[in-house]
Amino acid sequence: MMTDFATPPAAFDYLIVGAGFAGSVLAERLAGTGARVLIVDRRPHIGGNAYDRYDDAGILIHPYGPHIFHTNSKDVFDYLSNFTAWRPYQHRVLASVDGQLLPIPINLDTVNKLYGLNLTSFQVEDFFASVAEKVEQVRTSEDVVVGKVGRDLYNKFFRGYTRKQWGLDPSELDASVTARVPTRTNRDDRYFADTYQAMPLHGYTRMFENMLAHPNIKVMLNTDYREIAPLLEYRHMIYTGPVDAFFDHCYGKLPYRSLEFRHETHDQETFQPVGTVNYPNDYGYTRISEFKYITGQVAPRTSVVYEYPQAEGDPYYPVPRPENAELYKKYEALADAREDVTFVGRLATYRYYNMDQVVAQALATFRRLQERAVVAETQ
Ligand code: FAD
Ligand code: UDP
Repeated sequence: MMTDFATPPAAFDYLIVGAGFAGSVLAERLAGTGARVLIVDRRPHIGGNAYDRYDDAGILIHPYGPHIFHTNSKDVFDYLSNFTAWRPYQHRVLASVDGQLLPIPINLDTVNKLYGLNLTSFQVEDFFASVAEKVEQVRTSEDVVVGKVGRDLYNKFFRGYTRKQWGLDPSELDASVTARVPTRTNRDDRYFADTYQAMPLHGYTRMFENMLAHPNIKVMLNTDYREIAPLLEYRHMIYTGPVDAFFDHCYGKLPYRSLEFRHETHDQETFQPVGTVNYPNDYGYTRISEFKYITGQVAPRTSVVYEYPQAEGDPYYPVPRPENAELYKKYEALADAREDVTFVGRLATYRYYNMDQVVAQALATFRRLQERAVVAETQ
């Protein structure tokens, strides 16, 4: 047999950029097929924005803001269950409005407490119908809310929060943004209604460690892929960073909303009555989250995080509005033309995805890559 010295085998089959959900799921799946994977992240840790760690007070915190896992997908839940046990957790949120802490999503109790009423579920349906504005076509984040619960509840719970969070009026954002928060006529005060609601028992980082603990996976941290890509041999790249940065912002910057996080530890057992309190109308921050509710940790002290929205800084949220979708389409066309690179994840596909949606997208991407490999082999 002759050895082909001209084309030495690539050192890695895949170079994966980003060790968050998108990158880690793909690394795990591909390594399982025998592929050799190098996963790099410019941050000093794995897990992307879902990374968690113990702070100086010994409290498990989420440095990039509160991450609550919820999904309706059995496939996604079963897949992640290979890497973690779970602690059932149903998130509850109160909004600070008119001097009261009221349930959000808006439900029967929200309306009764806010207006000093004593309506039943049937009556609150009539109430919403009486205050709702007629909206011909629901296009914006304002339309969604005023079309369901009217102007006053919109102003008190949504307008200020959204302006703070996005630096835009709800009328300038796609309907999908505020449509994430439902309206209820019963007393259900859970923030999410998904079938599966649970937190990784030992935290997200431990779960990611288990995903990446395969001998075919090498992890490189503190490394921008641009520093090492030219020095490496690999067959295919999977990119999970911001799509506009990949193409050197050639069509201009895609807006990503950023946040600044202020972490505090308090010398008391609890700080607030629930996992998250929203502040739609006061202060520079949108919400305060207290980790012990979310993780179930028992400790004499407690740690909280305040979220201050910012225009500049690390990219956290794609901004869903028509002009950004237009600009993204131009980058998407460039991305689609790159046979050598697959784009996946919240930043790379410019989609306001929750963790479970990113996992589902990554699993679907894996299946596509597998099909492509089979086709290539048979040609
Ligand atoms: P990321 O986690 O952003 O990972 C991308 C990685 O790529 C990053 O680690 C980055 O450092 C790395 N990278 C980028 N560029 C480069 C480069 N040039 N070289 C090397 N590495 C690079 N979802 C939920 O389901 N529930 C929640 O409660 C929830 N809360 C959230 C709260 C906040 C404040 C935020 C911002 C998001 C929240 N999410 C939540 C969404 C969740 O964070 C995302 O869906 C998920 O983490 C996205 O995973 P990803 O792999 O696509 O991206
Ligand atoms: N929102 C609001 N008031 C609230 C909660 C949410 O106006 O009390 C709006 C706001 O525009 C926010 C969006 O609904 O950005 C989605 O809320 P979600 O809690 O899902 O945001 P995330 O957790 O992704 O930051």
